[in-house]
Amino acid sequence: MKFARFKKQTEETILQGIVTDNGILEIEGDIFSDWKHTEVVHDVEEIELLEPLTPRHVIGIGANYVGKTADLPSELPDIPVFFYKPVSSVIGSGEPIVIPSKVEEVKFESELAVVIGKRASNISEEEVTDYIFGYSVANDVTAPQFFHEAGHWMIGKSFDTFTPLGPYIETELDPDKIKVEAYLNGDKKQNSSTLLMIVSMRKMIAYLSEVMTLEPGDVILTGSPLGAEMMKDGDEIVCEIAEIGKLRNPVKQG
Ligand code: MG
Repeated sequence: MKFARFKKQTEETILQGIVTDNGILEIEGDIFSDWKHTEVVHDVEEIELLEPLTPRHVIGIGANYVGKTADLPSELPDIPVFFYKPVSSVIGSGEPIVIPSKVEEVKFESELAVVIGKRASNISEEEVTDYIFGYSVANDVTAPQFFHEAGHWMIGKSFDTFTPLGPYIETELDPDKIKVEAYLNGDKKQNSSTLLMIVSMRKMIAYLSEVMTLEPGDVILTGSPLGAEMMKDGDEIVCEIAEIGKLRNPVKQG
């Protein structure tokens, strides 16, 4: 099932729905606990998609893909490189990514985003999928010009609009059988199986749950395949996981 958040083009009210063949069926309630169908179906041509949830937290992992299976390391890092992205950086599909005024280009990073659905503390790798609500596509936009020389990435990851998320949350997905893709102005730049992750999705979530209690609405960005490049004013970036959808954002200079 695909969950969406949206508004009608002429109204400000934020609505939730599930994607059907006939349009988006409006739902009411909390997607993580108790929701129900309404009778209202919205034409996809008459709505504006928003990010599919307002995350509680957004946590990313650094440099987490190899180019081919043979390059996967036999030993994993003791402490993976994680970072937070502010919730204020989250935008939906269709909204522009704004390049900070002091620089002329920023990097795209197409990623599988995991949405936590149940409180998770000290869970094992084998239990992780029981705690996942669903999956989305993220663009972990990055301005490496703002990485601090002492190694801190936070500022370079945190500008407004730097976390496009969407278009939907897909709840029925086998995370081991998908490809993460990116198209810059129509040219394919990234295309990798999630099996090329260094720290697997299950390992990273089990690890995080030993550090912090994860809650419904937490979003984990699982790292970007090889091939990420810079983008500039006037570009269009599409991050795609075929089973979830296309996350499409224009790029403009701030
Ligand atoms: Mg990334």
